Amino acid sequence: MAAETHLRADNYWDRSKVTRAPGRKIDCDVSVDVAIVGAGYTGLSTAYHLKAADPSLNVAVLESETVGYGASGRNAGFVMTLFGASLGLMKTLHGAEKVRAAHAHMERSIAALETMLEEHALDCDYQRSGFLKVATTPRYAARIRDEIATLEALGIHGHQWIGPEELSARVHSPTYLGAMVEPGCGLINPRKWVDGLAGVAQSAGAKIYENSPVKNVRREGGRFRLESNGATVTAEKVVFASNGYTHLIPGMRLKQLPAFVFIVVTEPLSEAQRASIGWAGREGVEDGRNFMHFYRLTPDNRLLMGGGPGFVPLGGRMNHDTHPAAWRHLEEFIATTFPGLAGIKIAHRWGGAFSVTADSTPQIGTLHGGAAAYSVGCTGHGVALAHMNGRILRDLILDKKTDLTDLWFVNRRSLPLPPEPIGSLGAKAVTAAMALDDWWCDRGATQP
Ligand SMILES: Cc1cc2nc3c(=O)[nH]c(=O)nc-3n(C[C@H](O)[C@H](O)[C@H](O)COP(=O)(O)OP(=O)(O)OC[C@H]3O[C@@H](n4cnc5c(N)ncnc54)[C@H](O)[C@@H]3O)c2cc1C
Repeated sequence: MAAETHLRADNYWDRSKVTRAPGRKIDCDVSVDVAIVGAGYTGLSTAYHLKAADPSLNVAVLESETVGYGASGRNAGFVMTLFGASLGLMKTLHGAEKVRAAHAHMERSIAALETMLEEHALDCDYQRSGFLKVATTPRYAARIRDEIATLEALGIHGHQWIGPEELSARVHSPTYLGAMVEPGCGLINPRKWVDGLAGVAQSAGAKIYENSPVKNVRREGGRFRLESNGATVTAEKVVFASNGYTHLIPGMRLKQLPAFVFIVVTEPLSEAQRASIGWAGREGVEDGRNFMHFYRLTPDNRLLMGGGPGFVPLGGRMNHDTHPAAWRHLEEFIATTFPGLAGIKIAHRWGGAFSVTADSTPQIGTLHGGAAAYSVGCTGHGVALAHMNGRILRDLILDKKTDLTDLWFVNRRSLPLPPEPIGSLGAKAVTAAMALDDWWCDRGATQP
């Protein structure tokens, strides 16, 4: 146990970093048309789509660390249709019509991701392998079946309930009672996807500055002045694509909170281990908990297991990439879910922050009369969405009214988060209620 506290975060996806001309560190004053803060899916997609729309624009992306340092290089690679925290919450908060529009937008986002991969010949190990939301107790089974009924009632089709036998023919686990199948979802190598976006943005002529944290943004004489590494970037327009770190930027403190989630990846499975779990379709799998577990096979046949206990740090502090207790939980959860894998060696462990708004709904907005734009709150569902948000940010920055800028979550009215420490204490109360609900639903689990 003592050794466990010394475990270091070691992201499996970093092994597949693709070779790309490294971004230079900013070390002298520059003047650009558009400065973008953050080199994840959102920032890089915005940069590419701006340059594609108007090659004469001078576009610079400033990244604190290196491309994909944030959630974009750390996630599980589920390409999903879920918008915001959960279907039930979105329907309660926003009503049927907006949920329908959001779902259609997510399907469009997946299609747009697939088109980007194809048009730019990006090899990101992408597969449209489908998604399974599995029930592990009768209470979760009832909830998941209700969710399918809600989707149907909304006119959102294509989700199907399968019982334990049919599910067992796909993935073998003694804990499963059934699942919702959603065939339109996929899995991607998130690291290759973010590196791919960086490559196309650079090829289109956008400049990427790495190791260039933006410490301050001021507006003077109708232009923005961004300070980084002692240099000043002067820009006509600014995009904040800083996601779970946005609260650290002066003036943006109450836009969102970071929430941390953790992942482990095993050694490659032996043939016997692989046979013990089935999973020929290689679907992405999630369970029905609020603190859901999400898992998949990697292209080299390791099991990636993520989720379970996560947390919102007090005061929005970002130094939480390691979490031995969460990693231990995931290791135990592997053994419970797949007894044939009990004792398998964990080769990689890491964690990262996603972004949550006050109502757990994604938000894209403009500031300074449209001279600046931001995107926050993709929660844990931004792999397809964040790339699409780049197209929305492009239209906002170019001051174009399009079907994308007309989407209801763009420039929507929303409450700011309360100031600290009330914000993170409030979030802790909500997460405690969610954990209690999970405990209630877990009672009566079918244990192996
Ligand atoms: C562990 C984990 C698992 C997830 N799994 C999934 C999944 O399977 N499917 C899914 O759809 N979504 C998932 N998500 C969410 C998804 O990864 C995010 O929604 C998406 O990556 C957000 O992209 P982004 O570009 O907006 O933000 P990020 O990738 O977080 O990029 C923001 C960047 O801004 C930089 N930055 C911040 N502040 C500054 C500054 N002041 N100056 C310069 N740079 C700055 C950061 O260093 C960072 O690189 C997961 C998230 C996590 C953390």
